[in-house]
Amino acid sequence: MFETLLLNFLFLLLPVLLFIIFFENRAYSYNRIIIVFLSAVAMSLCIAKPFKLDIGYIFDLRYIPFIIVALFGGYKNVLPLYILLNVHRFYVGGEGIIQSFLFSTILTILIPLYNKKFMKLHSKGRIIAATVIAFLTMAFYLFTLSFNHGALNQQFWILTINAFTTHVGVMIVIMILIEKIIDNIKNRDRIIQSERLNVVSELAASVSHEIRNPLTVTSGFLQLLRKSKTITKEEKTYVELSLQELQRAEKIVSDYLLYSKPQSENMVYSNMSEESQYTKNIITPYASIHKVEVVFTFNNTLNKNYDRNQIQQCLINLYKNGIEAMKENDGGKLYIDISEKKQNIIIKIRDTGIGMSKEEISRLGKPYYSTKEEGTGLGMLMVYSTINKVKGNIEVDSEKGKGTTFLITIPT
Ligand code: ADP
Ligand code: MG
Repeated sequence: MFETLLLNFLFLLLPVLLFIIFFENRAYSYNRIIIVFLSAVAMSLCIAKPFKLDIGYIFDLRYIPFIIVALFGGYKNVLPLYILLNVHRFYVGGEGIIQSFLFSTILTILIPLYNKKFMKLHSKGRIIAATVIAFLTMAFYLFTLSFNHGALNQQFWILTINAFTTHVGVMIVIMILIEKIIDNIKNRDRIIQSERLNVVSELAASVSHEIRNPLTVTSGFLQLLRKSKTITKEEKTYVELSLQELQRAEKIVSDYLLYSKPQSENMVYSNMSEESQYTKNIITPYASIHKVEVVFTFNNTLNKNYDRNQIQQCLINLYKNGIEAMKENDGGKLYIDISEKKQNIIIKIRDTGIGMSKEEISRLGKPYYSTKEEGTGLGMLMVYSTINKVKGNIEVDSEKGKGTTFLITIPT
């Protein structure tokens, strides 16, 4: 009994170990396939080496990887496991094939329903949720078993206690490990991102002001030249082109470079009400051109030290992206909500635009990542760098075709 437990535990530990050792650094979509595959292997091994109780019953831990994949991955990912489980079970043969089939079908239908809610939970919440589901699954299994068993005698209760403790216990341990891995990956990404931002913003700060002056001067002289009557038509198009390119360069500077350098005269201790009012006024005409309605609410009394220009630029970049995301949909609504919660300033910006896939979300904030023809791909970089400087956190929730929500939490 004890050896089987250890063996089964090892089977379940195997995918976790292999994952952190070999695959942790792969791209997101790759990972999913690998995780499902490793879970499938673990499940098969569990089926192959079940617990044989003295009283003649067998049970195994196959549903632990199954539940975990269903919770984290939803229908799409649990389906291969479902098929494999039933094929394997069929191959093993013996009694209870139908029961096993029905049981797994019910779980496959029910558990992924909870997938979205589950993913929104915090680490601890997910551990508890998975444990409760492991418990319920076992309860359900034993409940169906009790029908076959007839009288609920002592043997049945021994089985019950054994099954519950192993199933729930192993689930807790595996979930704690998984959550720890997720936490580590997130922390590492955060450190890398913050390193990258530091490098970029230092570089940016050092060139920004040097570049702005020559740009302004050149653009001024070119505008004079354009007015000249002695230049030919062809020469005039050259001048036009040069001016356009200069405009683009200026856009880059204003999207990112301009405010990347913190300036002591801009530092304020305030509740962002002025900044949000100011940025709202700036963005309103831009919104109405694109038929976007701005719904603005402000409810914050908490104060914080921050660079006024940077926060303004950051908000404008976020609003602009929201509006640009709704451009093609022929308008929509941009919800801006600034509030407070437990000593945190909460900025919530929601649009009803084109949305992003998970892959696209993961690329947000990387320098020069843009899907727009005229985009600079520096707006979000500036946003991340600014929020990073005030020790804030950005959460992105987006669905393709539905819209995007940016949730920024700034501790005070
Ligand atoms: P740019 O706006 O110049 O393209 P950003 O850094 O501001 O650069 O944004 C990078 C990319 O992130 C955009 O090109 C777009 O694909 C995506 N993005 C940002 N915000 C949103 C949003 N609210 N909805 C949909 N996509 C967005
Ligand atoms: Mg932008």
